[in-house]
Amino acid sequence: MSVLPLNFYDLIDGFSAGGCVVCSLVQRDVHRFLDSHLYEYVNTPETHAKMRSSRGLCATHSANLVEFGASVLGITILHAAIMDELLKTSAEPSRASAAFGRLRGNSGSTLANKLEAEGQCMACAALERAEGQHTGTIAEYISDERMNAAYAASDGLCLPHFRQTLRLAPDSNRTDMLTSLQVPKWKALKAQLDMLAKKYDANHNDEAVGEEADSWRRALAMVSGSNDVFGVLRSK
Ligand SMILES: [Zn+2]
Ligand SMILES: [Zn+2]
Repeated sequence: MSVLPLNFYDLIDGFSAGGCVVCSLVQRDVHRFLDSHLYEYVNTPETHAKMRSSRGLCATHSANLVEFGASVLGITILHAAIMDELLKTSAEPSRASAAFGRLRGNSGSTLANKLEAEGQCMACAALERAEGQHTGTIAEYISDERMNAAYAASDGLCLPHFRQTLRLAPDSNRTDMLTSLQVPKWKALKAQLDMLAKKYDANHNDEAVGEEADSWRRALAMVSGSNDVFGVLRSK
């Protein structure tokens, strides 16, 4: 019998906590990464090189650093290195590109391109690794009766994580299992949303609101995923 992956029981336990289990575990993993890895290795040449090329962390993970009480000295040293990189980059335009830029009237774009991040935010990279591990284990082990029962008893996955999990399903049997587990979650949520909308109607405003009361809030998370995992999507 094959050895279970390390996150198998995290998923089994996490499914019962409410909301999307992948959103929850990914946030836990990123917090751990920021807590330990980044602080522990804050002054290694490798971390400095990565932070210089990625121009620091993304806005969400930079805010997380402050929120989790990161070392002020650690943030200070890292960001002094990033400022050093920005100063070097802005002070050394190549003569050819400066002349070419003036000719084309786009020297601002030339510098802007040089100031672009060359690497991904380290915490986003940790997030994507964790996401791949969790969705991969669900997809692989959905035929295990413990995983199947935990999913069945849960709120289901958020839409982006359900899509990722479906894409990692190794065969159509497991694709069908995932679909037959997720669809009833949507049906139940839709019934609650319909009921809540009906009760908001003036004709039904004397009806007591039951478990559907916060269905609108759960629907936001189920459709869009957690803000800390998916955040804003925009082009620069
Ligand atoms: Zn999710
Ligand atoms: Zn990030």
